[in-house]
Amino acid sequence: MSKRLEGKTIVITGASSGIGRSTAIEFARTSPKNLRLILTARRIDTLKQIAEEIKKEVGEGVKVLPFKLDVSSPDEVRNFVGNLPEEWREIDVLVNNAGLVKGVDKAPEIKEEDINVMFATNVTGLINMTQAILPIFKKRADGGAGDIINVGSIAGREPYQGGSIYCATKAAVRSFTDSLRRELIATRIRVIEVDPGQVETEFSIVRFYGDKSKAEAVYAGCEPLTPDDIAEVIVFAAGRRENVVLADTLIFPNHQA
Ligand code: NDP
Repeated sequence: MSKRLEGKTIVITGASSGIGRSTAIEFARTSPKNLRLILTARRIDTLKQIAEEIKKEVGEGVKVLPFKLDVSSPDEVRNFVGNLPEEWREIDVLVNNAGLVKGVDKAPEIKEEDINVMFATNVTGLINMTQAILPIFKKRADGGAGDIINVGSIAGREPYQGGSIYCATKAAVRSFTDSLRRELIATRIRVIEVDPGQVETEFSIVRFYGDKSKAEAVYAGCEPLTPDDIAEVIVFAAGRRENVVLADTLIFPNHQA
């Protein structure tokens, strides 16, 4: 249990499945005292179910607010903080996790709509969320305080064939995160990147447009990470004392090394 997270308000994007869902549960388990969790994604019913699961597991010490938010909509993101109930607006941690990949096509064949959705979600969505929440962090003493935790990918460092757009989006996340960290140096705002390798989630199902057999074939003969493996790293990073920045963590299964 981390005392440092007690009383914090945490926003997680893409909290309806996979890494985001596990991160919500891990935060709740790790610091059940007066924690506020704002779970965002497009599937509001799933967020409500996760909120119930958390309440059943850890009780009333953690307050959970399921909130429908499409990060690829600049309007929804711009109005996000203003639309929160007042007592939920003092955000301390933003986990920018929402993201997706569409297709495994060679660059010339990639559909324009897939290019647009990947950039709008993985890059512009993450930047817009950061811009929406940074003013809250900056108002705090000594130049500001708060944590921005961006979920990148091994793909942002090691591009693979058939993933040119997804890899480009995650390389953009990496550059943005690095620049922002430098801009905010000497404040108490920490900018953290967590880059997973292969993790078994709905990610692969989305990549193959809902085709579960193609999605499962990706994991044949290997043992991917679980979303909990990544959630533990995210929550660990947020729970360090203020002067410790786990700036950049790459985490992948042994077979992928
Ligand atoms: P999942 O598909 O399980 O989860 C993705 C989450 O993103 C869902 O909750 C989904 O919610 C949400 N999401 C997608 N589009 C939007 C949108 N426009 N607005 C808001 N939320 C959105 O995949 P993972 O948990 O694996 O992915 C989480 C992150 O981890 C992503 O950034 C991904 O790129 C990254 N990653 C994943 C790896 C893997 O192997 N799984 C490897 C490396 C990085 P909803 O549909 O309800 O909106």
